[in-house]
Amino acid sequence: MPAAAEHRRPAPDRGRSLLGPALELVHTGRAPTRSALTTALDVTRATAGAVTGELEALGLITVDSRPAGGGRGRPSHRLAVNPAGPVVVAAQIHADSLSVALAGLGGRLEEARYLPLPGATDPVRMLRAITEAGADLARATTRRCLGVGLALPNPVTEPDGTALAALHFAWPSGTPVADLFAQEVRRADFGPRARTPLPSAVANDANLAALAEHRHGAGRDARHLLLVTSGHRGVGGALVIDGRLHTGSAGLALEVGHLTVDPQGRRCVCGNRGCLNAETDPEALFVAADRTPDPGTPLLDQARRLARSAADDPGAAAAVAHVVDRLGLGLAGLVNILNPDRIVLSGLHLDLLAAAPERLAAVVADRCLWGRSGRVPIVPAQVDHAGLAGAAELAWQPYLQDPQAVYAGRG
Ligand SMILES: [Zn+2]
Repeated sequence: MPAAAEHRRPAPDRGRSLLGPALELVHTGRAPTRSALTTALDVTRATAGAVTGELEALGLITVDSRPAGGGRGRPSHRLAVNPAGPVVVAAQIHADSLSVALAGLGGRLEEARYLPLPGATDPVRMLRAITEAGADLARATTRRCLGVGLALPNPVTEPDGTALAALHFAWPSGTPVADLFAQEVRRADFGPRARTPLPSAVANDANLAALAEHRHGAGRDARHLLLVTSGHRGVGGALVIDGRLHTGSAGLALEVGHLTVDPQGRRCVCGNRGCLNAETDPEALFVAADRTPDPGTPLLDQARRLARSAADDPGAAAAVAHVVDRLGLGLAGLVNILNPDRIVLSGLHLDLLAAAPERLAAVVADRCLWGRSGRVPIVPAQVDHAGLAGAAELAWQPYLQDPQAVYAGRG
């Protein structure tokens, strides 16, 4: 495939069209210097200088012309995201809590704040609680707030933004969650420095976690990145192809949780038996170990501890082996269909991988068409609070596409 030729952009308006790609390269740490940016964009030094000058004028990056020292060849200007630049609010609804954090460019979250779920978990009350927590953070910073992104633990349709199968909270299927969230964001007070109206967006948490891992974590530079994760309940998946989420025709691709891995297995919330969802989530590990979780502690935390205890606890090791075999079956099916070049596991699956890496790799390889010789790397997730970090990516997305959008909504 003539990749290099395809990526060359046409000459007219080239400077402006390069701003977004340049900002994404600095944001993801792929262009720490102007010469790295020049190479990555395949432009002249003069063009790279003009582009970085514009991003600096927009307040998004800093350009440090002092020689970096120690490097080989000609010293190049160092590029970094502006630590005093604008922020976005990242928010996440979990099965058992809410979380919010501010995030500048560069993939670094400020300290995340966790809140209990409101007493009533109807959509408007939950969205209001999380919006107000985010607005508190935005009012308390001196940095300009440019948007809000929200990660949800259920499928979200595109482009209309409705929540499907929001089983954790019994929200009506088809709840117009993007519109409801936008309403709450409009009515909340994000302070005098926030862009008005403040843009908002919502998406599924596994999709957003995959985006964060691709840009800032274990998925960097993978071309076909498959992420599979088990949170408190159930199993999610996502695919990032050439840096973009593959979300299918209506936002509902990669619902990997309902792959059948044991037709005689446990009953799934979807009504079938033996879905990956029901066979490899925290509850499944406890069932396999024939142990009862403590009702007072989050199930995911307990399951992760149980998986980590496998080295010293034969009962835990047997349970891990049972669940790993089923996870391997599911991953093998996905590998045969999707042909990823890397698999990132997170949540409980990260601990299952750590407890039995050879076993998991062997189960996957045994079922894959190219077998043991062409193993797909299976690696642990690296981004902390990946759903929140992905929600920040979602909020930054309009500015990564068109950095000059930071001018919008200025008083
Ligand atoms: Zn199912």
